[in-house]
Amino acid sequence: MSAGQPSIFARIIAGEIPCQRVFENEYLLAFLDIRPLAEGHTLVLPKRAVARFEDLTPEEAAELGRQLAVIARKVVAATAAEGCNILLNNGQVAGQEVPHVHFHIIPRRAGDGLGYRWRPQRRSPEELSALAERIRAMP
Ligand code: AMP
Repeated sequence: MSAGQPSIFARIIAGEIPCQRVFENEYLLAFLDIRPLAEGHTLVLPKRAVARFEDLTPEEAAELGRQLAVIARKVVAATAAEGCNILLNNGQVAGQEVPHVHFHIIPRRAGDGLGYRWRPQRRSPEELSALAERIRAMP
């Protein structure tokens, strides 16, 4: 996508493209994913066009967190799911296709075949300790 061109989500927020809205307030919009991984797959996003989570203001991040909990509860209840994955693909390398922050709420049921385990790496306590120190030292 070229710089300055509105993303598909900006166009949905502007009302130029339809969506199946499940929640809206001044700051956020939530709607059903057009290619759901499970019944009730919902996207929750800030209305301000920000590509990455860490570029949100603290207030925007807090509002997202607060409403995510409310919307996830409703989605799980409405679809009679047993749980859900709430995830964010943050950056192209992490699988983000649309460059406008959005959380996925994906309802889960036993035996749905979606999976969730990634292969963990082995790290010594010393390595973990040095890494935690490096992260703490970041400005
Ligand atoms: P991501 O890979 O995290 O950027 O996810 C983008 C998501 O947006 C995918 O799950 C798509 O199915 C979904 N998506 C793309 N276009 C639309 C649309 N017009 N309406 C609803 N969901 C969409």
